[in-house]
Amino acid sequence: MEFIMNELSYDLIVIGAGPGGYVGAIRAAQLGLKVAVIEKEKLMGGTCLRVGCIPSKALLESSHNYHAAKHQFSDHGIAVQGLTIDVAAMLKRKQKIVTVLGKGIESLFKKNAITRYTGTGRFVGETTENGHVIAVANNEGETRLTGKSIIIATGSVSSPLRGITVDETHVLTSTGALEIDQVPKTMAVIGAGAIGLEMASVWSRLGTEVTVLEYMDKVLPTMDQDISKNMQKILKDQGINFQLGVKVTKAEKHPEGGCVVEIDGKEALRPEKVLLAVGRAANTEGLRLDTLGITCDARGRIPVDTHFSTTARDVYAIGDVIEGPMLAHKAEEDGVACAEWIATGHGHVDYNIVPMVVYTDPEAAAVGKTEQQLKDTNIPYKVGMFPFMANGRARTYGDTSGFVKMLAHADTDRILGVHIVGKHAGDLIAEAASAMAFHASSEDIARVCHAHPTLAEAIKEAAMAVDGRAIHA
Ligand SMILES: Cc1cc2nc3c(=O)[nH]c(=O)nc-3n(C[C@H](O)[C@H](O)[C@H](O)COP(=O)(O)OP(=O)(O)OC[C@H]3O[C@@H](n4cnc5c(N)ncnc54)[C@H](O)[C@@H]3O)c2cc1C
Repeated sequence: MEFIMNELSYDLIVIGAGPGGYVGAIRAAQLGLKVAVIEKEKLMGGTCLRVGCIPSKALLESSHNYHAAKHQFSDHGIAVQGLTIDVAAMLKRKQKIVTVLGKGIESLFKKNAITRYTGTGRFVGETTENGHVIAVANNEGETRLTGKSIIIATGSVSSPLRGITVDETHVLTSTGALEIDQVPKTMAVIGAGAIGLEMASVWSRLGTEVTVLEYMDKVLPTMDQDISKNMQKILKDQGINFQLGVKVTKAEKHPEGGCVVEIDGKEALRPEKVLLAVGRAANTEGLRLDTLGITCDARGRIPVDTHFSTTARDVYAIGDVIEGPMLAHKAEEDGVACAEWIATGHGHVDYNIVPMVVYTDPEAAAVGKTEQQLKDTNIPYKVGMFPFMANGRARTYGDTSGFVKMLAHADTDRILGVHIVGKHAGDLIAEAASAMAFHASSEDIARVCHAHPTLAEAIKEAAMAVDGRAIHA
């Protein structure tokens, strides 16, 4: 391989162009820094755009439409005959959305005069007067750049599980599950977190018999228990099977076709496909952090202080590669705050109000503390619940499942958490997050005029319910 020595200097070099890296790069450029971004994949956008948030939501939308045409259109008097699903067309549509958005990032880089390097970035353990030296390696050779500041935004990869042999044709990670080209007859999903339930929904709606296997005794174990219980019931009614509190010990391709899944103390399953969705692990592979003296924590994440500084001077880390919820919008907030800190000396993220959304149908969404967390920390609270059953807009949608649950401090009435199961919960949660960012009380939301008929009225009613005065329930 030809070795090309080249030295280019930047105020900031970002390694990784996921939502953390590319957003941080744009914010730094807006603040006047000369910025370079190194990304090893051709398409920028990271896990989120290439194999995460966006392609999964594209498939959720397609499968939702198919399912609605098959099971719900008749309620509206719409008859559909000869309904079929063309999986190849569905995948093509998904890929087109991904490509268009990826090109959008390229044009944002041009607009903000950010230089993109395609290749794998690593530290070489040298600093010059221009800062840290970073090597970018690709098929054509190696380029060396220097950066006064470096942001590591190398994201995460699917977590492995002992005994599970991923081959991406039979035993899949979410990446493989986004590329299945025929509707499987049966599928086992290991893990009942957001990714597991979303992918289970996609394939179940298209006709696959899906069984979700979860080690904990509930689905969405980190969410409020009312969400866990309600979502499990709703998804069960939709036809997804659950085996909770089970330990999968082995999953692999079976020589006679399909897969075998062994479960401790239970009968083995023989699904056509297996999806491993037990979480994600920080990705620092090949970065050569050892050359900087950075040691990762027990979970492989890069330790940082409240300003994203690693133990190495002028080297920062953001997004999935550090502690915190592994979510695209959290990575983006990190990116903005880190860039602002580097350029201005200010920059902050309030991790108490990072919303989380599960894009099943109905959706589940939450921000702030769960009821259990308040109990565990002895914080006195009041609860306001309002069911979508009593919401006019939900009736017109034909989906009245779910509720809004608001938790407010018993003495100050300050909103501490909002938990929603329901249609468009992922969009509704933004009101709760905004209110919490302004330290609103439940009374504040109860006094805001909400348009009628909207799903958001359920948030106002839940706020009124905190004080026992919901009108419609
Ligand atoms: C199936 C699935 C669905 C998801 N759905 C959602 C969702 O709906 N909402 C949500 O908020 N989150 C979702 N996530 C999580 C979300 O994708 C991540 O939290 C987010 O992408 C993290 O952003 P990041 O910038 O930290 O890292 P990433 O997006 O992982 O980006 C890191 C980038 O760094 C590059 N890179 C790594 N090492 C190097 C190197 N040495 N040199 C150069 N480049 C390198 C990688 O190629 C990658 O492009 C989902 C994830 C998956 C897998």
